[in-house]
Amino acid sequence: MNPEQNADIESRNTLFAELLLPVPVPKLFTYRVPNHLSHKVLIGQRAIVQFGDRKILTGIITAIHDHPPRDYEAKYILEILDDFPTVADIQLKLFKWIADYYLCTMGEVMNAALPSGLKLSSESRVQIHPAFSLEEREQAFSEKELILIKRLMNESLDYSQIVTLLGVKHLYSILKSLVGKEAVILYEEVKEKFKPKTEKKVRLTEAYNEASVLETLFTTLATKPKQEAVILKYLQEVPLLSHPEKNKSGILKRKLLEGDISESSMNTLVKNGVLEEFEFIVSRFEEEALPSQPPIQLSVEQQQTQYEILSGFKQHEIVLLHGITGSGKTEIYINLIKQALESGSQVLYLLPEIALTTQIVQRMKKIFGTTMGVYHSRFSDNERVEVWNGILNGRFKFVVGVRSSVFLPFDNLGLIIVDEEHDASYKQQEPAPRYHARDVAMVMGQMHHSKVLLGSATPSVETYFQAVRGKYGLVRLDKRFGDAQLPKIILNDMGRERKQKTVKGEFSGVLLKQIEDALSKKEQVIIFQNRRGYSPMINCEDCGWVPKCINCAVSLTYHQFRNALVCHYCGYKQPLPQNCPTCTSTRLKSVGYGTEKLEEELTLHFPEATVQRMDLDTTRSKTGYETIIDQFERGETNILVGTQMITKGLDFDNVSLVGIFNADRMIHFPDFRSYERAFQLITQVSGRAGRRDKPGQVVIQTSNPDHPLLLTILKHAFEDFYNSQVADREAHDYPPFSRLIEVTVKHTDKKICRTIAQVLSDSLRTSLSGAKIFGPGEPMVSKIRNQFLMSILVKIPRSSHELASIKQKLVTTTQNVLKEKEYRNSRIILDVDPV
Ligand SMILES: [Zn+2]
Ligand SMILES: [Zn+2]
Repeated sequence: MNPEQNADIESRNTLFAELLLPVPVPKLFTYRVPNHLSHKVLIGQRAIVQFGDRKILTGIITAIHDHPPRDYEAKYILEILDDFPTVADIQLKLFKWIADYYLCTMGEVMNAALPSGLKLSSESRVQIHPAFSLEEREQAFSEKELILIKRLMNESLDYSQIVTLLGVKHLYSILKSLVGKEAVILYEEVKEKFKPKTEKKVRLTEAYNEASVLETLFTTLATKPKQEAVILKYLQEVPLLSHPEKNKSGILKRKLLEGDISESSMNTLVKNGVLEEFEFIVSRFEEEALPSQPPIQLSVEQQQTQYEILSGFKQHEIVLLHGITGSGKTEIYINLIKQALESGSQVLYLLPEIALTTQIVQRMKKIFGTTMGVYHSRFSDNERVEVWNGILNGRFKFVVGVRSSVFLPFDNLGLIIVDEEHDASYKQQEPAPRYHARDVAMVMGQMHHSKVLLGSATPSVETYFQAVRGKYGLVRLDKRFGDAQLPKIILNDMGRERKQKTVKGEFSGVLLKQIEDALSKKEQVIIFQNRRGYSPMINCEDCGWVPKCINCAVSLTYHQFRNALVCHYCGYKQPLPQNCPTCTSTRLKSVGYGTEKLEEELTLHFPEATVQRMDLDTTRSKTGYETIIDQFERGETNILVGTQMITKGLDFDNVSLVGIFNADRMIHFPDFRSYERAFQLITQVSGRAGRRDKPGQVVIQTSNPDHPLLLTILKHAFEDFYNSQVADREAHDYPPFSRLIEVTVKHTDKKICRTIAQVLSDSLRTSLSGAKIFGPGEPMVSKIRNQFLMSILVKIPRSSHELASIKQKLVTTTQNVLKEKEYRNSRIILDVDPV
């Protein structure tokens, strides 16, 4: 914020504000600032406005001036929600960059950026704050507020229900006041309703919180030493004689019961009205002080690496740390984060969605304590608001988070770490903004003049390219921590095994033997198959019928556990038929295999072993993922079968064997990134084997044991892999040698969809002279949720200086096509840098 600018504004009279609203319209909206607010209006504050006839929205003030709009009468701002800006100047700049680069509106960026608790609107729902108790604070509320609070005690309400209840036109002032008094919280969807974490506390009832009454109590308790001990312990923890007000917050029940204190005696005291129990809301971010960690001892290699990173930062804003799996990158990160925090700046540590589990969070918490915030999509909206505000008020200097943390209100970043930078989950697919958090982080770095450290054992081709040509610094760490060895990889020839008839079900003889060996040594096994469900397809052996989704152009996956055929694109479900609906044959065969089938076969082959499965189906609940990981960590599970979830950021001590299925399918997937993805996935999952002191084994089942990609994986030869990829991409003009924009046309009518795609690609060929247009063509899945799809690929040479103008022309051309009356019901999606 520029203070002079604001001082200047104060001296003027009628003010107007430009508002950014969470609507997909590519413009700002001008509103008039009421006189009584003109002294407090600031850029970055949130304001409540009327939008259209009936809607109430929260907008962000992006500019303040004194020019009334020319062609319409500006409406008044209804209320300003903040005393200080909620969105920093530098964030508005970033939002603008994201909107321009990823071809979406600022409103869409704002919508993705702000947790719904910060966006009071007519869509908001209101619930009572879980920590709120009316008895204590009744006098603090107005009559209308009390009516609303009493009703909210029983149920949550939406905006219009409250309007009816209170008989008022607008609620913003009442809600603002109630949110400010921490009596209610806002949320957007029913599923987001905030369920707080609570703990039981104990305190003296009011009657007993007085010295004279306590004295009498002790006389009565003289014959009841156990009860007396409870009260003495309480008084020891809560110094009531000097601070009687401390009774109100009481003490944690489990704390009171520590030592020799009897629970039944405590219960008797509760029954007799001496003590009372109450529920207490625990902030998820205020856990008790954890035992402090001994300082991290870096190995010689780690120290050297840290030194190289720091000297890399002297010449480059961005440094890539290419450290093999198990090389101990996290310890280096922790040291760098500490240094950055000590110098007074903020730090953001980005992780892919699923890697952000308790494992890493707990480890970091032990070191950084309560100055560290965690930003996770599994958190409720309310918790996200807590992190947002915690950054604004300085409580959190350091945030560990997933891709959406790039939207948080940092104003002074000194270091951004993007761990597992190659991970595709950094890219948002739907809805807009379709941003890539790694790339946004690099732009953030520029804006904040902060350093950016990208880390990976398998860097993306694009990133490595920039590092090799010297645009980023490059630091290598190619020794595993503590002299651990890289796993030994076996390319298991399935063709030969089939000839020799050593394959049982989906498992090769070699893999079965290895599993048996590992289990006999009480070591753990990971089986990787990147496909969930039982089998990806059911097929009638007599007529060839295959069950397909009624909404999408895909075959249904058979899930044995639910005994249903399920569409992985739209969720459509139907029971498995007994007979083929076409020829009534009962010979329905499952084709291929997913994690469910492998789990079943493993239980048959190894009845003594405990087998667990980790995929989307077993981890839907908030704690499903953690539970499976914890059980595996504690050694309660012998074999873990899973999809790519098991490849990410997990660190197990006792895994000696990893089995990999379907490497062939990964390699032959028709996409220019398929080799890269296969290399990354297989290397990452192999890296779970044999960390610490045990060398691991990896068995890859393949029909192409001589495939060059598998041979580079076998030799852990990242450089060879990278060189062949770069040569290939250069020859075919793919990134990093070009930039791609994928244009997808969607329409419920197949013919219209095709026509629009044709018209659009023709006009793009004329208007975008600096780019190459491919298509239109049908994507691999040509219908999803009853929408037909056609795609067009725009390739722009890396060297092009016209990127911005080409993008602008692309948007205009698209808009022109959509103006055609019969095309209006279609959607055209522009995906910049698709992944
Ligand atoms: Zn049939
Ligand atoms: Zn479907």
